[in-house]
Amino acid sequence: MTPLLEVHDLAKTYRIPGKSGIKPAQLKAVDGISLQIAAGETLGLVGESGCGKSTLGKLILGLTPADRGDVLYRGKNLARLSDRQMRPYRRQLQMIFQDPFSSLNPRMTVSETLAEPLIIHRLCAPAQRQQRVAQLLDQVGLESAAADRYPHEFSGGQRQRVSIARALAVEPELIIADEPVSALDLSVQAQILNLLREIQLEHNLSYLFIAHDLAVVEHVSDRVAVMYLGKIVETAPAGELYHQPGHPYTEALLNAIPQPDPSRAGRPAPLQGEIPSPLNPPSGCSFHPRCPYATELCRQQEPELLSHGDNRQVACHHSDRVGHNKT
Ligand code: ADP
Ligand code: MG
Repeated sequence: MTPLLEVHDLAKTYRIPGKSGIKPAQLKAVDGISLQIAAGETLGLVGESGCGKSTLGKLILGLTPADRGDVLYRGKNLARLSDRQMRPYRRQLQMIFQDPFSSLNPRMTVSETLAEPLIIHRLCAPAQRQQRVAQLLDQVGLESAAADRYPHEFSGGQRQRVSIARALAVEPELIIADEPVSALDLSVQAQILNLLREIQLEHNLSYLFIAHDLAVVEHVSDRVAVMYLGKIVETAPAGELYHQPGHPYTEALLNAIPQPDPSRAGRPAPLQGEIPSPLNPPSGCSFHPRCPYATELCRQQEPELLSHGDNRQVACHHSDRVGHNKT
């Protein structure tokens, strides 16, 4: 079966211009990432802030040009398409951002915000537009009276509902949700996650669901990809990854999830230290300075992302030792 989305060896280096006394530098934000998403599937993408998640999302959508790599959508290479050829795909792939306040136009009513993509993509006759707007609002759990209001009149969770409705307006097949609940209170997070799940089932949507901690993606992901400093270090079906991490970084992220269950206390300490600067990445395995399993090999040689069984890939020289010290 052809996956809906296939990403091969995608890479992006930002060139940081020099300032007085500071040399120009190269920052590898995304460093050779490959992944696949099937129709109706959710791939969770997790990693600390600055590891390149948003850049990867923008590369997939063509919002930032890639240095190398391919994005195949239903087998079509999006990187090779002209703007005109790209237009239908712009519709099928949508993005939702962390902060709906900055992604919604403050001077447009909700009705105008939702009508705009309908007009751009000529999706609905003018006479039917208001009805379609009302239907979209209903789908995301907002009352029809919301149509005449402005973004600042809503709470954070309601604003995120509006941006979900805007993404749905064009009937996409894939939504890249970039930390869609990170800015929300915990109780509101759960409501938005439930809404995204309901919408997915109803429309057979695929998601690339980006988050900076594993707790958020646990209940929404079919598979999870863990990212560190521009690279994927582990990918596995969600259940397997949470039950038995294969990479020390995954293990550290799992240990960082607060545990109400006292019998599970006493696990190894969560992640130590800061994520290194991508301007000056460590030698060998870039996780080695923070890794409790690191050896000389790790300092010298970068581990490849290798298959472990049918469904899991791990990039670690010592993955056989990881995850066995859980109580
Ligand atoms: P994440 O979404 O995981 O927090 P980003 O993709 O936003 O990470 O950023 C990855 C790295 O690229 C960071 O070090 C960030 O500072 C850098 N970066 C992101 N966008 C730009 C840009 N437009 N110019 C230069 N550096 C950037
Ligand atoms: Mg980001």
